[in-house]
Amino acid sequence: MINDSLPLLPLAYDRLPSSWLRMLGQEGVPIVARHDAGPTRFVLFDGRLSPPPTLRPDQQSIEVSLFEFDVNPISISAAVAPKTTHAFWQVGDIEAREEVAAVDHRTVRETLISRLRCAIQELGGVWMRTSPYPFPYQTAANFRFDHDRFIADDFYRMLDAVRGHEEMTSHYLCGSQYESQPEAVAALRDMDVGSHGYHHHTYRDARENRRNIQRGLDAIRRCGVDPVGFVAPHGRYNPALAEALQSLGVAHSSEFAAAYDDLPFTPEGSGVLQIPVHPVCLGIALDGKRERTDKQVVAAVGEYFEAAVTEKYAAREPLFFYGHPDGRVGRYPEVLRRWFSAVASRPGVWRTSLTQFARWWRERAACRWEVHGTADRPRLVVDRTPPSFAAAVEWVGPAGVASLPLTKGRLELSAEHTQFVPRTRTTRTRPVRLEPIRGLRHWAHRLLDWEYETPVKEIDAHHLRGRLKKSLRHWKEARA
Ligand SMILES: [Zn+2]
Repeated sequence: MINDSLPLLPLAYDRLPSSWLRMLGQEGVPIVARHDAGPTRFVLFDGRLSPPPTLRPDQQSIEVSLFEFDVNPISISAAVAPKTTHAFWQVGDIEAREEVAAVDHRTVRETLISRLRCAIQELGGVWMRTSPYPFPYQTAANFRFDHDRFIADDFYRMLDAVRGHEEMTSHYLCGSQYESQPEAVAALRDMDVGSHGYHHHTYRDARENRRNIQRGLDAIRRCGVDPVGFVAPHGRYNPALAEALQSLGVAHSSEFAAAYDDLPFTPEGSGVLQIPVHPVCLGIALDGKRERTDKQVVAAVGEYFEAAVTEKYAAREPLFFYGHPDGRVGRYPEVLRRWFSAVASRPGVWRTSLTQFARWWRERAACRWEVHGTADRPRLVVDRTPPSFAAAVEWVGPAGVASLPLTKGRLELSAEHTQFVPRTRTTRTRPVRLEPIRGLRHWAHRLLDWEYETPVKEIDAHHLRGRLKKSLRHWKEARA
């Protein structure tokens, strides 16, 4: 018999690794540092960091490291470049390859959080969380456009396909390509616009990144649009990028080298919200097409997108996809039309920009509520709700999930009179295989930060790598 004098939620913690704090934050279960709160029923700790906490007899400690017996949750830190891998997705009969985070953070999170949830439920606790989407939505949808190059025909074909769906698009522009296209930038004025850097490259040096990002932001501003947010060229993520984003006060960013297909989070040591997307785009399918025609690839990607939307919708994962107007979805807008109609045909989808989603995610993290009573008859005491959105609380029971509006004040619930709806938790929208990134050429390129995007005269030669790169580019260009 559980003594109902102590709150079942929030979960208190003594010291937890950043990976656990990140996953619990993504889950939306109320948590609080133990020294910041009165006694609570459950106290989480990590035996690798501290001894078991001293508790009252009506408290229960839970050792989170025990749940990691077969997985190793790796932190995402702004100070350490994440390990990446080549991942392959099956798109029809094409294998589409992208360089992404080596760790599948979504799967690690789902596995570990469900183990913790089961443990707490077995100990007489309750599992409730703030829904990842505002009430009453089932999920959220956004198509992110990375505007690497400006090709007028492709750009305006993309705009035609977007018409009527503008609110669920976000556009990240390369400044070097768009600074001379104020009309194109103006056509995006009422949509969500962010920066994709000035030159299309993610540097290994913080100073170079800062300069490139600042220059990219300034170029878009000169066209009369104030950009919010950033996505890194090639989806790369490294400490030099994190430092530059932080120092420029960029609000959110999205790089699949940090994470893909996961819920948003803030890397350890960073204040920049990371919003992962699904990393499969038409571009990587065209890269892997071999003897197939563009038309066949376009049909395969359209079908793949429809299936991925179906699965992610059922699993209530964000429907955050991406593509490039130039030479890709702008040239073959039928891919976009299929994606938009797959999303539009489903009820309960929040069609939103990434900027608006980032705002929601911050407000969601600031919700404060407690659960008293017992697992069968929980009593919610809600102290703080998001100021600009309606939120929902999700009660996860053995038979499924019940969703209720999260409103300030008290709410008495009973398991008997609550309808739990079964949920699909897994999705097959995942890589079919991974391959380590190998080869001398690859490592030499990374070491030199090799690229052809920055004009030779602009290569920053304040460090040895830059001087070497500059000489080699000079030499190559002289030979050409
Ligand atoms: Zn790009």
